[in-house]
Amino acid sequence: MFNKVLIANRGEIALRILRACKQMGIKTVAVHSVADANLMHVRLADESVCIGPNQSSGSYLNIASILSAAELTGADAIHPGVGFLSENARFAEIVQEHGIKFIGPDVEHLISMGDKIIAKTTMAKMGVPVVIGSDGSLESVDQARETAERSGYPVLFKAVNGGGGKGMKVANCEADLEQAYNMAKAEAKANFGNDAVYMERYLAQPRHIEFQIIADSYGNVVHLGERDCSIQRNHQKLIEESPCMIIDNPTRDKITHTIVEAVRSIGYVGVGTLEFLYENGQFFFMEMNTRLQVEHSVSEELTGIDIVREQIRIAAGNKLSFRQEDVRFSGHVMEFRINAENPQSFMPSPGRITELHFPAGIDVRVDSHVYDGYVVPPYYDSLVAKIVVKGSDRNECISRGRAALDELIIDGIQNTAPLHRQILDDPDFINGDFNIHWLKRWIDRRTDHSVL
Ligand code: ADP
Repeated sequence: MFNKVLIANRGEIALRILRACKQMGIKTVAVHSVADANLMHVRLADESVCIGPNQSSGSYLNIASILSAAELTGADAIHPGVGFLSENARFAEIVQEHGIKFIGPDVEHLISMGDKIIAKTTMAKMGVPVVIGSDGSLESVDQARETAERSGYPVLFKAVNGGGGKGMKVANCEADLEQAYNMAKAEAKANFGNDAVYMERYLAQPRHIEFQIIADSYGNVVHLGERDCSIQRNHQKLIEESPCMIIDNPTRDKITHTIVEAVRSIGYVGVGTLEFLYENGQFFFMEMNTRLQVEHSVSEELTGIDIVREQIRIAAGNKLSFRQEDVRFSGHVMEFRINAENPQSFMPSPGRITELHFPAGIDVRVDSHVYDGYVVPPYYDSLVAKIVVKGSDRNECISRGRAALDELIIDGIQNTAPLHRQILDDPDFINGDFNIHWLKRWIDRRTDHSVL
């Protein structure tokens, strides 16, 4: 097992990783920007190193600085967390070259699954259903037009190196096509330094359903079921739940079998998530995230399995500590992302937290790094807490969610809890009658009637 792990991240996920390390008896190194000197995991870590200025480009994305901190403290592994450098193949390669273990998949898989076209082609070859569209990146607007005619409108342009929903543009009909194509290319260039785009058929009312997998280096691959992440705003997830209420057991068994076999065939090692759209009883693979995800906590509560612990064990060369038959899925789990944002305008709301009280009680988990008097800096992702609740069924889970959100107090900054609280009373949400576009329409309707 590792002796000392450097956590190359911040916020709640850094604290989550620190907790796993502490429980495993592994020493920890926290690295932080100037603004983050008072982060909770920095206080709790065995050692901490300031790696640069507030802007992430100089700190959390600064490979040289992170490596110096690892060398200085004698860390034998680096956990990249989520976002930042977690899917950066170059970073993983440099880390390995320095004799330090990157807690994540091989460089080869970071590269292949990081390219959305290669990922789709690879998965399609393994029998995983993919959304129809162009075979590769588009060379010209004429090629885009021909492809759209074959797949049928509406179509969606996506950046080959995209992420975070950027570089995506819809063309509803041929008249929209050229402009959407050019705009997607320009956005892709500006955000990812590469203007390559590809095309997919744009699905009108899909759910976003993703599957958590864990694979060790001995060919053992397990899945921990799915997460329904359809409640999104601007392609950013706000509520995640498991199980997905519209999937029955035969459907789940069939797709998880295909996924597990595909992951085994490509020789993937580590934790990962395969993201799908689901419409009219059919799955369409979109992409694979080759890292831990924010919403991993949902699957942990559903199965009782500590995903971060398994991830660290596997990276250290151990076998998975359980088999698929040992996984027990029990009850229903939901996660509410509490962001430091105005719940109506979604404008960021950084600042000092003047009063804080987190809900607790049976089957209520709060993953958060914030505390009374903590100042939410304006420089990073606005996530301040994840409220994760479990019930014996979906109705009990919703009731527990309402009670937990009612109990939450975060004064001094605005946050998205009131939005979640309202969604939990909405008949469509309660009945499970929603898709990835539902929240946008719900927000537009609410603004029209000024409900909040
Ligand atoms: P990113 O990596 O930028 O997050 P994804 O490919 O994961 O991009 O897509 C993000 C979100 O965009 C999805 O969760 C879904 O809401 C929407 N989306 C992606 N592809 C399609 C599609 N073909 N049709 C409809 N919506 C889509």
